Amino acid sequence: MSSEPTRYRTLKDIPKEEYMAPGTPLCAGCGAQLALRLALKALGPHTIVVNVPGCVALFAIYPYSSLKLPFVFTSFVAAPATAQGIVDAIKVLRSKGVNLPEDTKVLVVVGDGAAYDIGLQSSSGALHRQLDHYYFVYDNEAYGNTGFQYSSATPFLSRTTTSEATDRVPGNTFWKKDLFEIWRAHGVPYIATVAASKPVDLLRKFEKAARFKGPKLFLALGVCPTGWGSDPQMTVKIDKLAVETGIWPLKEAVYGEVRHTYIPRSLKPVEEYLRTQRRFAHLFDGKHDDLLKEYQARVNAYWEKVWSTELK
Ligand code: SF4
Repeated sequence: MSSEPTRYRTLKDIPKEEYMAPGTPLCAGCGAQLALRLALKALGPHTIVVNVPGCVALFAIYPYSSLKLPFVFTSFVAAPATAQGIVDAIKVLRSKGVNLPEDTKVLVVVGDGAAYDIGLQSSSGALHRQLDHYYFVYDNEAYGNTGFQYSSATPFLSRTTTSEATDRVPGNTFWKKDLFEIWRAHGVPYIATVAASKPVDLLRKFEKAARFKGPKLFLALGVCPTGWGSDPQMTVKIDKLAVETGIWPLKEAVYGEVRHTYIPRSLKPVEEYLRTQRRFAHLFDGKHDDLLKEYQARVNAYWEKVWSTELK
């Protein structure tokens, strides 16, 4: 953790204010909901939310809403354009003397289907225009709201309802798309990965992002008991295992310069994480040790690079 000034040092510093009402229609133990709840605590009451189809859309089933914030629902590809319209409207209202709170901000909330696949082109346009907004992705690694179909965020070997398996690979045959690096190539001021099991790290990243004008991007792991076949009570533990096995690195990039905010000195075996989820159960029949080794080797290679560059 860096020594930069912050109001978030321990769990006691997590703001008490809630912008999400209890009793939402999302599944019990939904990690996406937990990560977003923390993000909203950091962003505060003057946040205008733009949302697209996906699990979080259930927060606003007209005329009810689980969020205590303005909420605009739009189509997958229209989220950045909607955010642009709101940002422009704020400017126009201010120019006409309308007194809006200084910290009024626009937050786009999307799942991985929108961020990695369907909405990537339009979000790329907004990043290129340096649109001043927050973009929060809850990455449950498949199309969770429609039956857990494959997305390009789906990890290698995961079972989904549409993944093509081969004789060698029983599950998704592709490696997860590196959205962090795609965003980084756009030269935006701030990008971070976050995990709900590390709330202080999450809050500090939102605090830091507030210093920058332009796109501020957050990629949150969304542990999904329904799609992943995990125990809803284990959500935070699984989220933590994703970090401690090195599968979900916690990092940030300020104008392209990457820094890991949590660097494990040693990694827990990836198997410990994979075993918590039925989507990987087919790997543990004793016939796929080579694939497990391949998975572990890929994670190790990532961290060897980090250890050699950031732990000098
Ligand atoms: S399907 Fe998964 S991501 Fe969607 S609400 Fe349920 S647990 Fe959350």
